[in-house]
Amino acid sequence: MTAGPVRKVVVIGGGTAGWMAALPLAKLRTVGGAGLEVTLVESAEIGTIGVGEATLPPIRAYNATLGLDPVEFLRKTRATFKLGIEFCDWRRPGHRFFHGFGDFGPPLGQVDAFSCWLRHRAPDDTSSYEDWSMATEVARRNRFAPPDSDPRSPLGAYSYAFHFDAGLYAAFLREQAEQAGVTRVEGTVTEVALRPADGFVSAVTLSDGRRIEGDLFVDCSGQRALLIGQTLRVGYEDWSAQLPCNGAWAVPSESAAQLTPFTRSTARSAGWQWRIPLQHRIGNGMVFASDFIGKEAAREELLQGLDTPALADPRLINFTTGRRHRVWERNVVAIGLSSGFLEPLESTAIQLIIDGVGRLIELFPDTSFAPALAAEYNRRMHRQYESIRDFIVLHYKLTQRDDTPFWRHCAAMPIPDTLAHQIDLFRSSGRVAIYDPESFRESSWISLFMGLGAVPAHHDPQADALPPNVLAEYARRVRATVVASADSLPEHAAYIHRQLG
Ligand code: FAD
Repeated sequence: MTAGPVRKVVVIGGGTAGWMAALPLAKLRTVGGAGLEVTLVESAEIGTIGVGEATLPPIRAYNATLGLDPVEFLRKTRATFKLGIEFCDWRRPGHRFFHGFGDFGPPLGQVDAFSCWLRHRAPDDTSSYEDWSMATEVARRNRFAPPDSDPRSPLGAYSYAFHFDAGLYAAFLREQAEQAGVTRVEGTVTEVALRPADGFVSAVTLSDGRRIEGDLFVDCSGQRALLIGQTLRVGYEDWSAQLPCNGAWAVPSESAAQLTPFTRSTARSAGWQWRIPLQHRIGNGMVFASDFIGKEAAREELLQGLDTPALADPRLINFTTGRRHRVWERNVVAIGLSSGFLEPLESTAIQLIIDGVGRLIELFPDTSFAPALAAEYNRRMHRQYESIRDFIVLHYKLTQRDDTPFWRHCAAMPIPDTLAHQIDLFRSSGRVAIYDPESFRESSWISLFMGLGAVPAHHDPQADALPPNVLAEYARRVRATVVASADSLPEHAAYIHRQLG
């Protein structure tokens, strides 16, 4: 059979993943000069998962590439700005640290700032490296303005993402997608037809009998994994042995007096609690491991830990951490929760959607569906999933907490070889192995290691050649610049207010 262009794309699912996939496919991908015919099917009867509020900095590039108006985005999604995550009680109860987006200061000659800090620090100092981070300093003051476009400027040394209501974001993307020609079909898929010759999906049928044919199917059906799992039977690799949390309670609460420009994650007795400030409310949730705490006790711990009154009853969501063995199978590409799930500790699910869509556009097939394209897509998605998994497991593994059975379990559990190597490398030399250049950067790994108290035994020997007085002057300058720059920025709430006019 001769290969032809893929023209008809059918997206199953209208959650965050579905609309985040449909819009760029319609807007950015052409075949022979013409756009794709994109149809999105969503079921009001089934609904969406309805959580997901914190993001990572590449969301900005996603929005910009699609030409989304930044002020309209801010207004319609009730977004706030995010400079990073504050981790409370993770190293031990009472301790806090900040994983900020961005660097720790400029290099001194050939020597990077972190090596300079390691050389300069007092022997018992495990925390003051944070004082060199612009993102951390700005967050401490509840301030915000976008960084300077010149990365050499102190005001260019940080980055940011957003907190938003993912449901409102999906609705905003839907408006744009429909304007870009995406056809939305409301209905529930009850049958999936496979071509007898090769088992490729040829059409889906809705409960009212409507039939939708396609060349390529994007499975954004959430945890149901309608095409990739239920139909094509691609298995799921369960990572619960390394990430034992399997449930979450989510609840909105009233806004607080201060609009903080960061997510807060607080370690609890058998999991952790998130706090995500939006313009009009705070999103809260408790991620917990049901082997260590009953669901009612987890719900109670969440409500006890709120700092403002709840606005609704908490909602329970169950999940299994892991990923599909393959996320591109035949003519089906799974994006979003259908492809896998990692708990939201580092806000990575929407990031995986962005990268999943970006790679599909980059590796877009013709109707021959060359197996090597799927293999390359799967290789890159797997590498990213595994790299994020290691990063999240690190949070649990390095904790010094031993006050509950859950934390004792985490400290003793086996970890992937890749992470064991990462920990050895950092502890011995302060160096970081980057397995996936598209995932967390070196500065993020350093933040986590240092925040959890893993201080390297040695540092880059180049730093030993720096005279102590030169290092001391450099350290003073870095800190003074960070403080002065952070002081010059407006309050986070005032900045948003000004943007919204
Ligand atoms: P869903 O929202 O479940 O959408 C599935 C869609 O498929 C729906 O439209 C449904 O109607 C449709 N569908 C299903 N079956 C059929 C059928 N038979 N016929 C027709 N339509 C069908 N991510 C982040 O990046 N940051 C966070 O802070 C964050 N927090 C989270 C907290 C929790 C507790 C959880 C569980 C997830 C969190 N996530 C977060 C992940 C995020 O919520 C999801 O990745 C994101 O919303 C994408 O979901 P989805 O679109 O894949 O699935």
